[in-house]
Amino acid sequence: MAPRDYYEILGLSRGASESDIKKSYRKLAMKYHPDKNPGDTSAEKAFKEVSEAYEVLSDTEKRNLYDQYGHEGMKAHGYSGPNFHSVDDIFSQFSDIFGGSIFEDFFGGGRRGGGRRSGSRGQPGADLKIELVLTLEDVVSGVKKRVDINRQVKCETCGGSGAKKGTKAETCPTCNGVGRIQQSSGIFSIQRPCPQCLGEGVIIANPCGDCRGQGTVSKKREVSIEVPAGIHEGTRLRMTGEGNAGQRGGPAGDLYCVIRIKQHEFFERHNDDVICEVPITFSEAALGCQIEVPTLRGKAKVTIPGGTQSGELLRLKGQGLPNLEGYGIGSQLIKVIVETPEKLSSKQKRLFEELRELEKAGSRKERKSFFAR
Ligand SMILES: [Zn+2]
Ligand SMILES: [Zn+2]
Repeated sequence: MAPRDYYEILGLSRGASESDIKKSYRKLAMKYHPDKNPGDTSAEKAFKEVSEAYEVLSDTEKRNLYDQYGHEGMKAHGYSGPNFHSVDDIFSQFSDIFGGSIFEDFFGGGRRGGGRRSGSRGQPGADLKIELVLTLEDVVSGVKKRVDINRQVKCETCGGSGAKKGTKAETCPTCNGVGRIQQSSGIFSIQRPCPQCLGEGVIIANPCGDCRGQGTVSKKREVSIEVPAGIHEGTRLRMTGEGNAGQRGGPAGDLYCVIRIKQHEFFERHNDDVICEVPITFSEAALGCQIEVPTLRGKAKVTIPGGTQSGELLRLKGQGLPNLEGYGIGSQLIKVIVETPEKLSSKQKRLFEELRELEKAGSRKERKSFFAR
């Protein structure tokens, strides 16, 4: 399929001004913004499409190239597609758009990697990941867990600047505080991290002793994590801003909590159901019986009907796990295992032999037909 015209995507004519392009992109990006369309893949696709169009048309050199040669010509001149892969890349690349007050107002403080990340030249803090091990019983009720995490927090001594008390970080003269320098290479200009300040934008002549100029120090902190009932193995819970503090005014990273569920002594999980095996004897299987089985909420009495086969499943409704989305509660499935006795007392042996004689008499007819086949 031929790619759509970039002007058409942004709803503009060829002669559109720079500010028209920006305005139109802002409007469309807002319409298709992933935070406004959660889980909508067609909106996400549209969001990427308008972002690609904007990437090209907002860059004078790329726009000229596109105006002259179109999509094919761009490719022939070395354009290999947009500079971003994910939605988050878009937010960081076009932070001038997403960092603006429009998005902040709209989405309450902006989105991670978007609004909060821009506006300051500080480095954003790293995301942190922890694993939280739960029992199936925790999954039944939902649970609040407190965990200690080590994370980077703002250095109090220097207030996060990284400069020794009484001194200040100086703006880097090479990049004027931008942290990047422009270099021309053929048609496109390339941005590179500034070699003098290594992308920091500032130079610290006298670093703070406590944080060695980093502006952050490691500190242990207790975090309380609320886990909803019905949660699944491998789910990631995100706690915005609970990761490492950013450097020199950069935004904090996020804390990701990955759910692990411990293997249970009796139960195996199947979505919202749990399954357990219950051993019974020959006579219990043949005659039927009442047994007590463990459940995730205590114990339950179960009637096993006479004539139950080994491997048969009985269902205890409402004794499984709550559905994460609130669609009721699963079942407990009881897999009946008929156990063959390994050691027999002489009385048992006599009774089984007696039983065998009875079976011989009773099933002779069926046997015959079985062998006749
Ligand atoms: Zn410090
Ligand atoms: Zn610099």
